[in-house]
Amino acid sequence: MGSGNIAILGGGVAGMSAAIRLAEETAGEIDLYSNDLGGEYLSGGLKYLHATSHMMNFVMKTMKMAAHIEKVIGAVEVADRIHPHPESFWREPQWGDLVQRDYFTKTRGTKVTFNDTCMNNPFRANSLELKLVPTEGIQTLVVNMQNHIARHSRIKFHKMDINELSLASIINDYKYVIYTLPIQLLGNQIGYNFDFEFRPLNILRYEAFAGVWPLWMDYIYIPSPEYKFHRISLFQLNKSFTIDVEYNGGVDETVSDDVSKFMMQYFPTVGYEEISKYQMKVKGHLVTQKRETPPSIPANVFLLGRFAQWNSRVTFDNVLESVESIIEAIHKKGE
Ligand SMILES: Cc1cc2nc3c(=O)[nH]c(=O)nc-3n(C[C@H](O)[C@H](O)[C@H](O)COP(=O)(O)OP(=O)(O)OC[C@H]3O[C@@H](n4cnc5c(N)ncnc54)[C@H](O)[C@@H]3O)c2cc1C
Repeated sequence: MGSGNIAILGGGVAGMSAAIRLAEETAGEIDLYSNDLGGEYLSGGLKYLHATSHMMNFVMKTMKMAAHIEKVIGAVEVADRIHPHPESFWREPQWGDLVQRDYFTKTRGTKVTFNDTCMNNPFRANSLELKLVPTEGIQTLVVNMQNHIARHSRIKFHKMDINELSLASIINDYKYVIYTLPIQLLGNQIGYNFDFEFRPLNILRYEAFAGVWPLWMDYIYIPSPEYKFHRISLFQLNKSFTIDVEYNGGVDETVSDDVSKFMMQYFPTVGYEEISKYQMKVKGHLVTQKRETPPSIPANVFLLGRFAQWNSRVTFDNVLESVESIIEAIHKKGE
């Protein structure tokens, strides 16, 4: 284990982008500790990077990654038809609540109060501007980020599983620690039990559907209690496309029959016997009983990302903003 100025824990999009930006802005080696390089990105939790105007600079100039901004085009299935999401809400505003209610019930197992904001329902989004138009996203490949890190002379990737013991020694050995792992591990270490849990997200990944799925359509919401799955989306991992079907809770073998039924209704030409599927369990959604402010954490530790900041709404644009604040704080402390 190294011992230097900066350690980054976790190699998901938060850890990788922090490593890349910090390597630009600080001198010395950066040690990145994780059991993989890609995190949710590899498992399908992250489909495209939520875009803001300054982000293309980061992605293309800093990371020198091939990327493009594109409209994320979605759909929603209501009353046996597929409609554009979210534009069809102009016509049928009540569908926004329908999608939000279904999303909360299926992903979190809770009833929606409509006090919570929801990105899928622009009427309830936390935005002053009502956006009933497609979102913008940056499309890039996780392999671009992995390559950037592999080629960087000052970023050292250490593949390892971090436990309470190694966490303690990293916090002790490094001047700054950027922590992107699930917060419970740090909680255990400082003797604090965080009251939150993941509701497991199952992703059924199909290869055979990819040939018939229209490539311009990024996702379909299925806000119907008839189906356990809430969304089907196109997923590009490196050079190949797959179709991901998401449902939460326990693994249920009957879901793939329902997927066939749904696909047969809208894409009847598929040869279903050819389907090869993978079932993947990813961490999924955070279910918080109550939101707590984390108690005092070690002064050299910065929390970054959805699972460390314990906030299910953290997307890539928020992560990048936080990385900039961390850089500012490190500079202030005299690095
Ligand atoms: C279903 C879903 C869809 C989403 N869609 C989008 C989207 O379209 N756009 C968007 O911008 N955001 C989206 N998000 C949010 C986005 O996925 C996350 O905010 C982001 O990917 C989280 O990145 P991260 O680096 O914080 O965490 P992760 O990607 O989970 O990275 C954590 C890393 O730490 C490693 N790790 C964990 N524990 C240990 C340990 N003990 N020892 C060693 N290594 C460890 C993991 O292997 C991983 O590499 C979505 C989230 C979900 C759940």
